[in-house]
Amino acid sequence: MPRSEITIDLGAVRQNARTLLRALDGAELWAVVKANGYGHGAVDVARAALGAGATALCVATVGEALVLRRELAGIRIVVMGPASSRETAQARDAALELVVTGGELPEGLPLHVKLDTGMGRWGLSELPQLSPQVVGLMTHFASADCDAAFTELQVERFAAATAPYSHLTRHAANSAGALRHPSARFDAARCGIALYGLSPFGEDAAADGLEPALSWRSELAAVKLLEPGESTGYGRRFVAERPTWIGIVPVGYADGFRRGLTGTEVRVAGELRRVVGTISMDAFAVELDRELPPGAPVVLVGPDVPLESHARVAGTITYELACGIERAPERARRVVVDADGRD
Ligand SMILES: *Cc1c(COP(=O)(O)O)cnc(C)c1O
Repeated sequence: MPRSEITIDLGAVRQNARTLLRALDGAELWAVVKANGYGHGAVDVARAALGAGATALCVATVGEALVLRRELAGIRIVVMGPASSRETAQARDAALELVVTGGELPEGLPLHVKLDTGMGRWGLSELPQLSPQVVGLMTHFASADCDAAFTELQVERFAAATAPYSHLTRHAANSAGALRHPSARFDAARCGIALYGLSPFGEDAAADGLEPALSWRSELAAVKLLEPGESTGYGRRFVAERPTWIGIVPVGYADGFRRGLTGTEVRVAGELRRVVGTISMDAFAVELDRELPPGAPVVLVGPDVPLESHARVAGTITYELACGIERAPERARRVVVDADGRD
């Protein structure tokens, strides 16, 4: 076994896409696969989502879109972030669609005009004169995961501003909007986090019918007994009060197991065990209740060990943890599983 193994289950991605399509009740699902598919692998996830009924892909940069375009001809790809003039030319050549948030509307490629209805980031406060290139109008929610009233206000502002253009594709919802705000469906929803089976609300993903696509496994590389007063890790932040068995897992913050995860739980030989001491670049320690053999299996993310719990401990969101899981083959093995077996 390599130091650790990351498994991406494309069957789960398809399942989540179908769950979102049911929630969207006729609106299109556009799969957001920016940041290499939230760390899951953009091309694999894109193929799975398209196979399950998604009708377009959304990314943040022209560079990300070009990577997808090489693998996926003829699929709609929308670049949501800003593009330089050089990137606009590349986008035209690659038949991409761009989002515009001000300035002159570029020519020769399909455009989506973005309105700022309360996000306070990219976007225009009013619609400009639209050109025939404009195929879509969009906005983005600031707090669809936690503030229903503000989200509804954004929906109302967007609906009012775009009412004369209902022949264009209007899209507003992210995952949280798609799952909780029927009024936000319009013609299409841009969903990321839920596609990966992670809860946009930071809660139990299963409550929304979502199935995590990513799991992460390793095994104990060493097991040792700390006598009272002995410690493990940098800074001696965990000192044994009584004879304590600890296991060393060969995964650290360079692999994406963040330094803030001290105190979280992972599953060791089937049981939840606490991560103790400072997480190093390449290793962390778990407190055991007995001696276990080196090689005992460790589940870092998987059944009973949801990314949402780690995010709570680390004071962050699953988005950030997922993007940070390092998949370099020198550090971890990545396995893609499909419903029909392994690729
Ligand atoms: C990232 C992003 C999304 C997807 O958000 P999720 O919460 O992951 O569903 C949608 N729209 C825009 C503009 C984004 O940047």
